[in-house]
Amino acid sequence: MLDADFFRRWMTTAAASVDREADRLTALDSAIGDADHGSNLQRGFRAVTAALEKEAPDTPGAVLTLAGRQLISTVGGASGPLYGTLLRRTGKALGDAAEVGGEQLAEALRAGVDGVMKLGGAAPGDKTMIDALVPAVEALGSGFAAARAAAEEGAVATTPLQARKGRASYLGERSIGHQDPGATSSALLIAALADTAEADGE
Ligand SMILES: [Mg+2]
Repeated sequence: MLDADFFRRWMTTAAASVDREADRLTALDSAIGDADHGSNLQRGFRAVTAALEKEAPDTPGAVLTLAGRQLISTVGGASGPLYGTLLRRTGKALGDAAEVGGEQLAEALRAGVDGVMKLGGAAPGDKTMIDALVPAVEALGSGFAAARAAAEEGAVATTPLQARKGRASYLGERSIGHQDPGATSSALLIAALADTAEADGE
């Protein structure tokens, strides 16, 4: 079972990963966006880590809801509301249980991803974070490692696509040949989840 501490470690692992990969995320965003994805997410996840230390929420749902709120208030552009919605919706779906199982998490994440699709209006194949998140959620039933691999594959598979949503879509065909920064950071978030689970022996 996964408790509040597990979810807190997922978020701090994600923050460390975003710190490590910030330059790469910004480089990807400079090719087809406005070159701020790495620094934006870095600021957001640092705020998440600080808030979790200060408030110490005691359920998985409360951890993700707090994290989502921080991302909405600190990350600029479209990414803040989208990532914030992902975590808040997932947190809301987990309710106030003190511990949740893998199946419950998969179901809650699906609700979170649905929320992101509704807010952003993106579908699979539009070259957005959805292209990493949807395969990850579908694979999560087969385990955390499967979800990580599916998210990474989904992110890589955005490279030949033409963007149909977000700032990159303004580039039209010129968006082809670049991996989507949002799908890339989404894959980092899922990899952080798998790393946390593996560190626990889940
Ligand atoms: Mg940007």
